[in-house]
Amino acid sequence: MPTPNALSPLDRFLAGFVRGADDECWLWRGEPSAKGYGRLRIGGRRQVYVHRFALELRLGRPLRDDEDALHSCDTPLCVNYVSHLRSGDQATNVADAVERDRLRKERCRRGHERTPENTRTRIDRRGYVERHCRDCERLR
Ligand SMILES: [Zn+2]
Ligand SMILES: [Zn+2]
Repeated sequence: MPTPNALSPLDRFLAGFVRGADDECWLWRGEPSAKGYGRLRIGGRRQVYVHRFALELRLGRPLRDDEDALHSCDTPLCVNYVSHLRSGDQATNVADAVERDRLRKERCRRGHERTPENTRTRIDRRGYVERHCRDCERLR
């Protein structure tokens, strides 16, 4: 059992750099590896590179072992997952974009699945179709 006070890897990641503007480098403050990359302990002795961890946050999924996290800024210690990191796999980048697009279409803004049961459809005054998510309406 983790102790209640132990910070999660995400908390330690977020505490490990100073977030700047979206287009600036956010430099990891921890000790770099021999190759110049920042590292984060994620449980026991397991360590990950922080730029990979950052990109996984951005993508919302783990990187494959053969998938590189690339810096557009050529700064190994940068963890700016908003604009400086991307997957080195072009096919993956395209697939991620398609997947995000698909989810946007099939889910409401809060991420509820769009099904006939939870979608209320109406035509507004100008004749446009509006779709309302019943899950969201129940939350109000
Ligand atoms: Zn950068
Ligand atoms: Zn919803």
